[in-house]
Amino acid sequence: MTPERTVIRDALTDVPAGTVVTVAGWVRTVRTSKGGFSFVQVNDGSCLANLQVVADKELPNYDSEVVHLTAGTSVTATGKLVESPAKGQSVELHAEDLAVVGPADGEAYPIQPKRHSFEFLRSQAHLRPRTNTFGAVARVRSEVSGMIHEFFRSRGFVQVHTPIITASDCEGAGALFRLAADNREEGEDAEREFFGRPTYLTVSGQLEAETYACALGKVYTFGPTFRAENSNTPRHLAEFWMVEPEMAFCDLAGDADLAEDFLKFIFAGVLERCREDMEFFNTRIDKTLIETLTHVAETPFFRVGYTEAVEILSAADRKWEYPPRWGADLQTEHERYLTEEKFSGPVVVTDYPAEIKPFYMRINDDKRTVAAMDVLVPRIGEIIGGSQREERPEVLTERMSQAGLNPDEYWWYLDLRRYGTVPHAGFGLGLERCLQFITGLGNIRDVIPFPRTPRSAEF
Ligand code: ATP
Ligand code: MN
Repeated sequence: MTPERTVIRDALTDVPAGTVVTVAGWVRTVRTSKGGFSFVQVNDGSCLANLQVVADKELPNYDSEVVHLTAGTSVTATGKLVESPAKGQSVELHAEDLAVVGPADGEAYPIQPKRHSFEFLRSQAHLRPRTNTFGAVARVRSEVSGMIHEFFRSRGFVQVHTPIITASDCEGAGALFRLAADNREEGEDAEREFFGRPTYLTVSGQLEAETYACALGKVYTFGPTFRAENSNTPRHLAEFWMVEPEMAFCDLAGDADLAEDFLKFIFAGVLERCREDMEFFNTRIDKTLIETLTHVAETPFFRVGYTEAVEILSAADRKWEYPPRWGADLQTEHERYLTEEKFSGPVVVTDYPAEIKPFYMRINDDKRTVAAMDVLVPRIGEIIGGSQREERPEVLTERMSQAGLNPDEYWWYLDLRRYGTVPHAGFGLGLERCLQFITGLGNIRDVIPFPRTPRSAEF
């Protein structure tokens, strides 16, 4: 195929009118006028906008192919870019050649030029990136992913690839997927633990990241994470991507500051770099999106202790499905009240009761709470969960035993405290929660290409 292809984003913005270019993409719509002209909207995924290709009856394949073009057909078009008289587009391409690369059965093609429900499009996960919404989600996701690396690397964090297969089974972060080798050919008898011990898909790279933080100072890990959550909620996936920075010589306040800087960098960055896609989400998904993101990127995040948060919630004039109670985890309704009504912006809630948090979080002096933080944002609730880690070996051992874990199995984790222990802290951001906040999409299944949820892993 022609290597000198121009992507439509460049054709629409960078290339001077009058230039002859070749573009390649998929037909979105075709309109044929009686005067012997066809207007073909071509999209190649490089940007939201289509390029209008104008084809006239002089083309040798006009009657045989052009007038029969349907949505979904792949084409190449060569011709001059001409300033467009039509509203809402800078240039159009006057085709000297318009070739069908791969036809599409127009009637059967599932992605018709109309609005489909997101639910329907989930059943067409292989074709949904050809729609405006899912093309935009894919571009924004890629940009955010790149900015995550940019943010941490520019601050001297070293990226660590933590394992996806792990034997640390009991972090309390979520239900686990257990691994088994597929020994069907060898017969049932061959069943054994491949790794000589039970292993699982990771629920978090944190414990491993801690080991590298306690050597390299500042590290982060960014990769897929698995939780066998049986909850069919719009905010939970069985497979999602998590960003986990970990910093040695850092306490909870430093951790919260990093989380705030990080989110602001991402939100400001996406507004600047994904303008067209963000305007699309703002128009089609949530009219307050850009305003909210701009506000969040510019204003300080509130900090409030868990105990005070429970007092605020208890005092609120509001009927709760789960009445707030000290010692119980905050529910989404509580989190949303705090961010949407009480503080009208992101809130960092700190110092949760020890019983509801995992063993590795540092016990505060009051002995009842731990140095934990959740960052809450409007609409979503929790977007980040983090903590200062317990660095005192005796306290950590005791916490493990209380949690029903065998400290011997975590000997390597305890070694970090035995040899040159340091205060350290980190957090986990769910990439999809972050993308929900950025795009305004209500269901987490729409911000990951191939969502994995209970009874759903078709593609
Ligand atoms: P939640 O209470 O919302 O279920 P969690 O407290 O179990 O989340 P953490 O263990 O703190 O989550 O994980 C860190 C971050 O990972 C969360 O703040 C969230 O952004 C994201 N996350 C957690 N579970 C899921 C999931 N099942 N699907 C998508 N993202 C998730
Ligand atoms: Mn959490």
